[in-house]
Amino acid sequence: MQGLMQDWPLTVDKILDHAKAWHGGREVVSRSVEGPIVRTTYAAIHERAKRVSNALKALGVAPGDRVATLAWNTGRHIEAWYGIMGIGAVCHTLNPRLFAEQLVYIINHADDRVIFTDLTFLPILAAIRDQIPGVKHFVVLSDEAHLGDQLPGALAYETLIEQASADVAWGGFDENTAAGLCYTSGTTGNPKGVLYSHRSNFLHTLVTMGGDVLGIRATDTVLPVVPMFHANAWGLAFSAPAVGAKLVMPGQKLDGASVHELLETEGVTFSAAVPTVWQMLLQHLRATKGQLTTLKRVVIGGSAVPESIVRGFRDEFGVDVTHAWGMTETSPLGTQATPNAAIAAMDDETQLQFKLKQGRAPLGIELKLVDDAEKDLPHDGSTFGRLKVAGPFVVGQYFKSEGGNILDDAGFFDTGDVATLDEHGFMQITDRAKDVIKSGGEWISSIEIENIAAGHPKAELAAVIGVAHPKWDERPLLLVKLKAGETSTKEEFLQFLEGKIAKWWTPDDVAFVEDIPLGATGKIDKKLIRDRMKDYVLPTAAASVGGAVALAASPEPKIYAPEHSDHDDGAWLEWTPSPHQTLDRTQSQVQSGAKLQSPEAPADAVGPFRRS
Ligand code: AMP
Repeated sequence: MQGLMQDWPLTVDKILDHAKAWHGGREVVSRSVEGPIVRTTYAAIHERAKRVSNALKALGVAPGDRVATLAWNTGRHIEAWYGIMGIGAVCHTLNPRLFAEQLVYIINHADDRVIFTDLTFLPILAAIRDQIPGVKHFVVLSDEAHLGDQLPGALAYETLIEQASADVAWGGFDENTAAGLCYTSGTTGNPKGVLYSHRSNFLHTLVTMGGDVLGIRATDTVLPVVPMFHANAWGLAFSAPAVGAKLVMPGQKLDGASVHELLETEGVTFSAAVPTVWQMLLQHLRATKGQLTTLKRVVIGGSAVPESIVRGFRDEFGVDVTHAWGMTETSPLGTQATPNAAIAAMDDETQLQFKLKQGRAPLGIELKLVDDAEKDLPHDGSTFGRLKVAGPFVVGQYFKSEGGNILDDAGFFDTGDVATLDEHGFMQITDRAKDVIKSGGEWISSIEIENIAAGHPKAELAAVIGVAHPKWDERPLLLVKLKAGETSTKEEFLQFLEGKIAKWWTPDDVAFVEDIPLGATGKIDKKLIRDRMKDYVLPTAAASVGGAVALAASPEPKIYAPEHSDHDDGAWLEWTPSPHQTLDRTQSQVQSGAKLQSPEAPADAVGPFRRS
């Protein structure tokens, strides 16, 4: 027997309709790409988004066509999103931090017909234009005065929508219609497209509005630093209008001073970003003795949040941190570390340990942990295995079936993350499957070591990779970027780790570097680090093959950031050895040889997923 309730398709245009109807006067404030702060409202955004729809129709865009955006978080970007999705076209968010070849591949693979672009990215598009012949129109998210001649034939957004009518019907199609397309960063193989549906985005929005998830309300002022081009700004461009929160869009300025300015001048109560952004903000606040007078809560995800950030926010600024985990394939929010009743009753320090985990699943996300033989593993907080997910906003297959069948027999998607689950259902990522360090048949979590190392007061960033070792297969190497003006020694860092990790996890060497390269999504680019360190020989490895010759042949560790075009914000500097790193090589190895003992596999280990 069927239920007899209304058929009300879950399409995202209804979100902006709702915002206009019930929160029409609520502000949307943007730091525009042209510079000035621009103020508008949900009602005005709704009207202009409708004009975008008509403009697209006039350009020949039909339902199902892909329309790309290459843009920062601004009110105009939101208008473009809803204008595209409202008529059943697919909004393809392009990540400007990708290399030009990757952008070409993605644009052609998606078969984008139109690209909305910010002024910032005109040089990139001008350079690749000849290689993306399927793109018929470029729309520059600005006015005629700023259009310039970098991209001949490009249309000015303001003129385009001024000429279009706001009278257009949105929705009216099946809720399973595709709404958005976002490619994974493609660290292995070609980037793969995740094709969201209206239904999946709508359900994700409802779930993330929950008090234990993002928990934003009509009274909140929300600043999504996390970009709309990476995992949909964690759904905030849907959930903020859905609840009627004021929205503050940071444009292209994501440095500590600019973010702080917006937080204070706009009275932001809630914000979301990756750890690097918060690291920059905290450093800025400390350097300038700045305060956070309105901010109450930040959600941090994308990579593991270091303890120092949680403590910094809590103890110095009275801001609560919620750690969250997710991925492009999960729309993206998968888990969040909000306490359950048992955890809420614990003392602050114990609660903090749960905050550092990636958290628990909301309704709509199923999680399981399996070993390499697909056997379910216990939720004991220490056994780690492959993390798999299922749910109505989890990917079922990639766009154009790239990668074939990606679900197991039970319909679960393998996240590629390695994790533990504890008795409270709190998940903790211990590594990416490809980054886990395999030492003597056991697994070492590179992330766990680097999180602790990053908490050293002198450390700005830390990365751990596995380096080949003749006896143990791989051993950990810790790379540390020190805060400006600091000096340190390998021993200082190894002592800092002592007692916090199993002894056999202790890195075999510490290299001080001037920069740790970040990938296109702002995460530590371990693939690049590994690639550049491929000739590096661990002192312990050299010792075990009889030393001096191998040592002399071993180059200084040197890491290069990806070659980057000048549209970037300077986070991709080439790394060169710092003065304290160009120590006399022999001396440094003598020191490390004296300090380090050969690693021993844990006596109680029973298999690759068991950690001591
Ligand atoms: P992306 O699809 O680019 O957002 O990347 C998703 C991946 O980022 C996940 O599979 C994790 O490996 C990593 N990730 C996301 N959030 C966290 C987190 N809170 N802690 C550790 N890793 C994370």
